[in-house]
This record gives sequence, C-alpha cells and structure tokens, in this order.
Amino acid sequence: MLKEYLHKIKLCAACPKMCRFACPVAEVEKKERVTPWGKSLTALLVLEDKLSYDDPDVVDTFYSCCMCKRCKSYCLVDDVDIPSMVQAARDEIVAAKKEPEDIRQFLEQFKKFNNPYDKELALPPHPSLSPEGRGSDILYFVGCSTLLDKDILNSTINLLDKAGEGYSTFSDCCGFPLWASGYTEEAKGLADKVKTALSSSGAKKIVTSCPACAYMLKSIYPSLGFGLSADVFHIAQFTEALMKDGRLHLNKKSDIDTVYHDPCFLGRYLNIYDAPRNILRQTAALREPIKTRENNNCCGAGLYQFRPMTAKKVTEIAVENIKQTKAKQIITACPTCKRIFSEALKDKIPVKDLTELI
Ligand code: SF4
Ligand code: SF4
Repeated sequence: MLKEYLHKIKLCAACPKMCRFACPVAEVEKKERVTPWGKSLTALLVLEDKLSYDDPDVVDTFYSCCMCKRCKSYCLVDDVDIPSMVQAARDEIVAAKKEPEDIRQFLEQFKKFNNPYDKELALPPHPSLSPEGRGSDILYFVGCSTLLDKDILNSTINLLDKAGEGYSTFSDCCGFPLWASGYTEEAKGLADKVKTALSSSGAKKIVTSCPACAYMLKSIYPSLGFGLSADVFHIAQFTEALMKDGRLHLNKKSDIDTVYHDPCFLGRYLNIYDAPRNILRQTAALREPIKTRENNNCCGAGLYQFRPMTAKKVTEIAVENIKQTKAKQIITACPTCKRIFSEALKDKIPVKDLTELI
C-alpha cells in the first residue's frame, strides 16, 4: 500500500534532491515528474487526493522507472526507497484496473507461456540434467531468462559439474516480471506453485543465474507470504565459496582487457559487488568503468516493457560508460544485462556472462 510510504515520502520535501542526477529515466526524458523526487511528490499528491490514478500522467510517472535503485545510492535519507514506493503505486494502479494498455497486454502475453518472452521455453536435454540430481542438497534455479541463453546455461552446468556435487534443476519463471509490473496477485499465484515445487525437491541451497530471480526468491517471496526454507545464492556467490573451499580451480588467467558491469539486482539490491570481481581477477585483466559498483548505470532492462524508446537510450548511456574503458570484452552476471548489451553492441564488443570465463 502506498499509504505505508507516507512518512518516507514526506522526507523528500526537505531535501536538496540531488537524486535527479542519478536517475537514468530523468536523464533521458528531462522531465521533473519522472525524477525520483517527482515520483515521490506525485505519490504524496495521490495520498492527499489531489491527484488520482485516473490521470494518465500519474500512471505514466509510476511506470517511468526501471527499478534500478540508483537513486538510493545518492539519497542520504536512509528511510527513503523510491523503487519500493513505485512498486506499491503500480500494485494500486493494477488493483484499480488503471494500468496502461501495453501493461495489460504484457500480462496476457505472460499467461500464454508462463514467461515474459512470448514463447515456449524448456530445458534442453543435457547429460548432466538427469533425474539422479533429485534429492540432492543443491537446486539450480535456471529461470526463464537463462533458458534464452544456451551459453550461460551450459557454462553454469559445467561449473556445477566441476564442483562435483549432484543437483536438481527448476526452470519456470520466478514471477519477478509480474511483481515488478504491479501484478502482485498473479505473482503470488506463481510464487505459491514455485514454492511447492522447490520445497518438494528437498534442496537446502538454491543457486540462480539471474540476480532478479535471486532477489525475488530471497526477499520478495517472504514479503508475499511464500518464504523458502532453503538458502538462495546467486551463482557468483556460490562460485566464490567453491573457490575458497578449494573445490573449484579456475581456468588460467587471460590478459584480455575486461570490464565488469554490475547488474542492478546483484549490486544495489543484493549488495554483491566483490564476489564477481574476485572471480574475474583470477580469470581476466579486470578494468573498472567510471561509474561502477553502487553508481553503475542500469542497462535499461526494467523499462523495455513499458517505455522501449527511453529504455534504448538508457542502454546507450550504460554502453558509453563501458566503452570509455576501451575493454575488449564485457562481462556481467545477469542473462538479461548480457542480452540487452549484446543487442546494443551488435558484436562490436563481445558480451559474456561471468560463468562463461570459468
Ligand atoms: S529520494 Fe532521497 S535524495 Fe531524492 S528527494 Fe527524496 S530524500 Fe532527497
Ligand atoms: S529506481 Fe532508477 S529509474 Fe526508478 S526513480 Fe530510482 S533512479 Fe530513477
């Protein structure tokens, strides 16, 4: 409920509002109402009944956010959390049936295949993906975005095989795109099914390739009433732990200049910055872009569904930040960041997932 954010929203009123320079949507659109503070003021006016979700500009303001959390890196007020407030507003907009038509169409498209990609996705046959993995302590939560990228899928399977432990797999969508769009009830329905399947696997550790899956399972499922008993790890954390335990020895270090892009949900949401770098320092010549870690640019992924033209420009800004390093390859730790950058760069600079270097 947006009302729960009232106190936090009021804190924005007495602030110099430097967050406007952090927001990629504001940088592209150059409109006051889409700045983090503009979203906060819009929320306050909705709560005071001076604006309503009947106004398309109000609805548009709350969908003009890639949920990148970069505003949080610049905000000095601990309590203020714009993307959570935006999500609460989207939830109310959907409940009031005031969401834009393209968001409604997205839901219908999602329902067809239970994923956001408008096609049937399934795990391909692989010798490691046999039923013997069932009952082991580890479950590889592949997620729908990794099913689109066979290189990430295969390199992660190879990595888990090298670790020498059995594992089971699960490849349905975690429901993150529904939750982020404001379709909380639909996300709950999916979370219920996913939780049942994960619990029946008996796994104690769940490993994901996608940072948004990790965040969804770890933080959002409990808030929706579907907390898991298993611990959730992103593959970067899991790999670093294997290295520290001496159970994984990495390939010889290459001297290819490599830049690492921090995915928003791995960095700003899960606070995982060092694990991927500790792995990459063993495998490549690592460079840092000017904007990195907490200040890294969003790849724009969270906006393509709602505002494709703005999203494309957000991607271009992120690509420029990376290009300044003159690195010969880009590594990220998110299947969606990899896809967005690969499409934007069109093979001019290779883009890979962290696991593809192991
Ligand atoms: S989000 Fe933070 S930095 Fe931005 S106006 Fe609100 S309190 Fe200020
Ligand atoms: S989460 Fe990102 S896009 Fe949304 S208001 Fe904050 S900086 Fe802007």
